[in-house]
Amino acid sequence: MATETSSTRQISCADDHDPAALPPEQALERILTEMRAIDGFERLALRSALGRISAKDIQAPMNVPNHTNAAMDGYAIRGTDLPLEGTRALKVLGTAWAGRPFQGEVKAEECVRIMTGAVMPQGTDTVLMQEHVERLDERLIRVGSAHKSGQNVRPAGEDIALGETVLRAGRRITPADLGLLASLGIGEVSVRRRLRVAFFSTGDELVSIGEPLSVGAIYDSNRYTLYGMLNRLGADMLDLGVVRDIAEDLQVAFREAAACADVLITSGGASVGEADLVMDTLNRVGQVKFWKVAMKPGRPIAFGRIGDTFYFGLPGNPVSVMATFYQFVQPALKQMMGETAIGPLTVKVRCLTHLKKKPGRVEYQRGILEHATTGELVVRGTGPQGSAILSSMSEANCFIVLPMDWGRVEAGTVVDVQPFLGLI
Ligand code: AMP
Ligand code: MG
Repeated sequence: MATETSSTRQISCADDHDPAALPPEQALERILTEMRAIDGFERLALRSALGRISAKDIQAPMNVPNHTNAAMDGYAIRGTDLPLEGTRALKVLGTAWAGRPFQGEVKAEECVRIMTGAVMPQGTDTVLMQEHVERLDERLIRVGSAHKSGQNVRPAGEDIALGETVLRAGRRITPADLGLLASLGIGEVSVRRRLRVAFFSTGDELVSIGEPLSVGAIYDSNRYTLYGMLNRLGADMLDLGVVRDIAEDLQVAFREAAACADVLITSGGASVGEADLVMDTLNRVGQVKFWKVAMKPGRPIAFGRIGDTFYFGLPGNPVSVMATFYQFVQPALKQMMGETAIGPLTVKVRCLTHLKKKPGRVEYQRGILEHATTGELVVRGTGPQGSAILSSMSEANCFIVLPMDWGRVEAGTVVDVQPFLGLI
């Protein structure tokens, strides 16, 4: 990997047009082409596999349901006994319960009382709902002609057919998947091993929670947002704390992280003086590229390798950390974890507020996605969009993604949004 040293020296946030800046999709593509899925699997008990990435395709060892059964409470009959017109009386032989099948065979002009889920008795292929049948006495019912042969029956294999692939390798296992595998009697799953991710913050001004705040000092919040985002991804985390803006300390921290993690993420060290320091240190321990990405928030991001460890250097501002993590690091980590679905969902909705923007960068503004009184899904901005305003991220439930060449967005414009959460 070549080293690009020139691009970090004139970083400025004053202008939005920067011919040297990479469009975000190009930056992501460059990152993804470098990453490979990690090796290493483990077999886990079904419940422990929730949220993990399946390592192998799984085929159904049986049909679900295993036997053809009743979809309704009623009477199991032979479809050929349905009268074309008028009515016909059928003899009730007994009852089929879910889990307690009727043992005998049903012949012409006979039927069995049946409960939902009960196996269809031999000879029957149709269920009449009990409300649609006239019960004459203990042993006799009368059926009319307004029925269809084969109705109200769940055929064996209706949900899953024997041999069908029910879970593909590379899938993040969901609650529905746990149920699906359980319905097949599968109690263990092969998953990829967890990705080991180390992270630390850089900055002389940072203090940890519990320490007193002197003038000019700030609490380190980036390690907490990173913890949250990595935890959600199911990574094994190694929090290396705060590292001062001192070349020797940085070198030690980079080497230590590279020795034990698949990925290292740092935040901070992107301002002009610090960037030189961080970059010089990085170039000594690994091969790292600094890119200006045409995005806001976030602009300079570093990407490269220290030995076999992939490295992401994120800007220091708290909102920039989250935006660059979600746009670049998360898809990259998913790819390393072996997950196949990596992109965020994007939906188009009308924006109720105007949004300030200048052409030149893709913006990931914070928005609130909600239902208007008409039921229409709409979005509004959270207000001030500074990259240090972390409360905007906390208040938001989506990014509003505004294309590079757009200027100010008038209220009523249809915009792309990336919702933060789905059903998980
Ligand atoms: P830097 O990229 O180091 O120049 O940092 C940019 C801005 O983000 C500065 O205002 C830093 O104080 C702030 N910052 C850097 N790291 C953190 C952190 N871990 N938590 C909160 N703010 C930070
Ligand atoms: Mg700093």
